[in-house]
Amino acid sequence: MDIEQCFHRIPSRLNLAMSSVADAADRRPLRLFFIPYFASGHLIPLVDIARFLSARGVDSTILVTPCNAALVRATVDAAAAAGLRIQLLEYPFPFAESGLPAGVENISALPPSECHKIDSAIAFTRATLERLFGLHHPDAVVADGHFHWTIDIARELGIPRITFAAVGTLAYCVSHSVLTNQPFKDVIRDDERVPIPDLPHPLLLARSELPDFLVQDTVFGSLIEEVFEADKASLGLIINSFTEFEGIYLDYFRRVFGMKTWFVGPIALKDSESRSVGVRGGGVDPAAVGNRARCLSWLREQKPSSVVYACFGSWSQFSGEQLREMALGLEAAGHPFLWVVREADGTEWMPHGFEQRVKGCGLVLRGWAPQVELLSHAAVGAFVTHCGWNSILEGVSAGLPMVTWPIGTEQFINEKLVVERFRVGVKASDSIRSAIDLNRTIVKATELAKAIGSIMDAGEAAEGTRRRARELAEKARAAVAKGGSTDKGLNDLIEDIYVWYDDNKKSAAGKAVDI
Ligand code: UDP
Repeated sequence: MDIEQCFHRIPSRLNLAMSSVADAADRRPLRLFFIPYFASGHLIPLVDIARFLSARGVDSTILVTPCNAALVRATVDAAAAAGLRIQLLEYPFPFAESGLPAGVENISALPPSECHKIDSAIAFTRATLERLFGLHHPDAVVADGHFHWTIDIARELGIPRITFAAVGTLAYCVSHSVLTNQPFKDVIRDDERVPIPDLPHPLLLARSELPDFLVQDTVFGSLIEEVFEADKASLGLIINSFTEFEGIYLDYFRRVFGMKTWFVGPIALKDSESRSVGVRGGGVDPAAVGNRARCLSWLREQKPSSVVYACFGSWSQFSGEQLREMALGLEAAGHPFLWVVREADGTEWMPHGFEQRVKGCGLVLRGWAPQVELLSHAAVGAFVTHCGWNSILEGVSAGLPMVTWPIGTEQFINEKLVVERFRVGVKASDSIRSAIDLNRTIVKATELAKAIGSIMDAGEAAEGTRRRARELAEKARAAVAKGGSTDKGLNDLIEDIYVWYDDNKKSAAGKAVDI
């Protein structure tokens, strides 16, 4: 994509003057820019948030690079066709500056050990985004935390910046608390669990369970203080969560950041009846479309609540040895399973005769699965998850008991909510594992089979877990219903932007120029 092209491809309605937002009497639709990070787990929910806001009258423009645009275009087009004011505005990925090969625009296109290259590339998008903001002058920007410097652009233009926290409230608080309180300062062993200060309940974590950016020299880690500073200086934080799940952590934001927060989740639950749920995040890629047809027809043959669905997000990878144990564990558990294996994982790990043996009772799916749609299918009875934040909320929304198998980033923190606080899941393994060591401790087939059994089989403990999962899903449904925390969060967010303009009337009016 030619860089000049994106400046000349100006969607007509973006060329409005920024004149009247400050005038409370004239509440014209807010024009918001959304800046997603180059990862499906960040991109998909931010596009959903843009759609929800558009459904409440906001004029949403999502700024995204071409390969990432392809993943969400079907969703955005469907929303626009339904009459919402929403569009994509593509800008070129900085290949030349970042040294990444053409087509590599999302962390899922790289092995996990190289994802930092995407983080490095972000800095090179700044000049382009500055120019686009200058040209279109939106009323506010909702930016992923990775684009922390959008606070400077927002200040320059005299508009509010809002952060989208792609992680949960607990993970955000833990990361901030670890950074400021340094509870691991005098801890020698990586696997020693220590209390995390400043939380409303006791929480023990080992250094090895922390996100890499807190314990290793990473690109994002080197920026983390600036990221928190930019968040503090922003109007507030949009969080994919809901009051009954994470409301107790909001006090941390009031005390420590003095910052507004808006709960807007579970995003996927709010979206579950949308007609585009089947193409969510997979775009109209024929492979993803084929996968969907295959899963749905296979699930139709299975008994209610009988299937174990296993999926590990959009970019994680396992060693061949681990995949082999996983295959044997799913087989040994003795329940039908639908297992999503990312294409990059290869085939040499497959146990001899495995696919033949599990024929009929196990479906191994390569590539992208329509996860949200599958989790809500009547045949699915449990979810083996890597504890990515979206996946956790999707499992909660579906009322499914979970087997938790965190791998990296903040997933070990998310696991705590599932296993310890709400007791709607069990760990795949009891050994302390590591979010940073790529040669991770292997979870054995016997451990996985036992964990699956402990939520799928008969017995009081398993039934208790399933009941709690169903009850939590009820609370999630209430959150997205009229008057729930998500309904309130979306309304308050819009209102707070108008109020910001009311409060900043003078300075905003001073910058109100038609470009
Ligand atoms: N997802 C999906 N199909 C797949 C893999 C992932 O629909 O085959 C979706 C999943 O539903 C979730 C997102 O991709 O919305 C992954 O986000 P999450 O935070 O769970 O994990 P990440 O990929 O960021 O590690």
